Amino acid sequence: MDGQVVRKVVIAGGGTAGWLAAAALSKQLGGLLDITLVESDEIGTIGVGESTIPTVRAFHSLLGIDEQDFMRATQSSFKLGIVFDDWSRVGDHYLHSFGVLGKSTWMADFHHFWLQARAEGFGGEIGDYCFELQAAKAGKFATGENSQINYAYHLDATLYARFLRARSEADGVKRVEGKIARVAQDAETGFIQSLVLESGQIVPGDLFIDCTGFRALLIEQTLQTGYEDWGHWLTTNGAYAVQTESVGPAVPYTRAIAHQAGWRWRIPLQHRVGNGLVFSSDHMADEDAKALLLDQIEGEPLFDPRLIRYRTGARRKVWNRNCIALGLASGFIEPLESTSIHLIMIAVTRLMQSFPFNGFDEALIDRYNQLSRTELEGVRDFVILHYCLTERDDSAFWQRCRTMELPESLVRRIALFRENAQAYQASDELFRVDSWVQVMLGQRIEPRGYHHLARLMPPGQLRQALGDLKTGISGAVAKMPSHQDFLQRYCATAA
Ligand code: FAD
Repeated sequence: MDGQVVRKVVIAGGGTAGWLAAAALSKQLGGLLDITLVESDEIGTIGVGESTIPTVRAFHSLLGIDEQDFMRATQSSFKLGIVFDDWSRVGDHYLHSFGVLGKSTWMADFHHFWLQARAEGFGGEIGDYCFELQAAKAGKFATGENSQINYAYHLDATLYARFLRARSEADGVKRVEGKIARVAQDAETGFIQSLVLESGQIVPGDLFIDCTGFRALLIEQTLQTGYEDWGHWLTTNGAYAVQTESVGPAVPYTRAIAHQAGWRWRIPLQHRVGNGLVFSSDHMADEDAKALLLDQIEGEPLFDPRLIRYRTGARRKVWNRNCIALGLASGFIEPLESTSIHLIMIAVTRLMQSFPFNGFDEALIDRYNQLSRTELEGVRDFVILHYCLTERDDSAFWQRCRTMELPESLVRRIALFRENAQAYQASDELFRVDSWVQVMLGQRIEPRGYHHLARLMPPGQLRQALGDLKTGISGAVAKMPSHQDFLQRYCATAA
């Protein structure tokens, strides 16, 4: 006896969540585990989920993924942020970039200096002081060994699952093709014992990872864990998705364009563009949503738009008995800030850190559940921020967003920024101060007060400092190649 209680890991589902879990566990803990993944080609995967955030790069390096191999295999492009059109008012545009704003001090973040400059009648836009934001606006990109640029990717979800599958299988993951017909449980404890496939094959395990998407076959249909619905805050509940041919150079940002009952995304890849229209079915009929999407996309659609329905919310526990839910099975925040793939990666990382080798200890499970919940609530508040700060009143949907009751945590955060321009990133929170600041300013909050540190600067020094920052950034951006040119060179097949 070596004392290891949990060895056989069964992953149910082979979408992005299933294959990310398989790839990471086999790479990092493969020597200690016996991993099987069950998926059904007939059911297929959700096929969306193509915009990521920069944490993806750290996770890829954990898996030893070579960036160029990955980008070629998944037809990826680079992403420097998200452009939001028409969110606060129709005609508004702002960019939430992955970059750092100016130079902060320990006492006051950069935006306080900028607010002082604005009060004195200069300073321009806050985005003038962010390298990634200016590069995105100019459609430029470059990275290299000593590059500090902060970026993520747009990727093809189907190709990504295929890429991860090849790596996982090479690292010893066994793949079983077939539909799960039944989940067998221990009559006394309710622990899952095995998956029973339609073919009659039985797949036994110690730990089961539910990656069956919105079906949540194990965590919900079997263990009836419960779901907390957040639809009263995030009212969109459906999306039409369609791919189109590229009609121009790929830009290094996602676009999120608001419409009267939700918003529309545009994600440029190397070989095509991913498009979708997110909407609230209380405020827009399915056929109108589909027609609006088809009317507004650029380029020929490659198929008829597909309808995906969802409920924003969180599974009451993502770890219940010997089952851990990942991806869509664990909960879902609508895709506005492209956080789902990140949440899968962070959950897999946490699972590896607290892997239950010695059995299922309640304290371990509680801790895992608590961390997952805090993290999801932070993302939820950040996404709600985009809606509740709107000034639009041109439709019932936006009127509802303006007047809805907010989570207490968010009410406090908005008040703090409005009164004192204070923004913060709590521990275990994903979004940095600069993200909160970009979105709150982009959504037209005008702070009434700010830190007065900049008033201690001799006259002219603030103007000079901001001018130097701006010139440094625009000079660096001017020297960069276009994103399209860099991408083509970077992803060209090695001779
Ligand atoms: P799925 O892809 O649905 O996979 C489920 C798997 O379970 C499949 O392999 C299926 O065959 C299998 N399965 C189910 N039932 C059975 C059964 N009975 N037997 C055998 N196998 C079974 N995330 C981002 O990070 N960025 C984005 O831009 C983004 N955009 C999105 C847009 C929309 C409209 C939606 C709805 C989601 C978006 N997401 C995004 C989320 C992202 O798509 C998911 O987090 C990601 O794809 C993971 O999905 P999954 O693997 O959990 O589920």
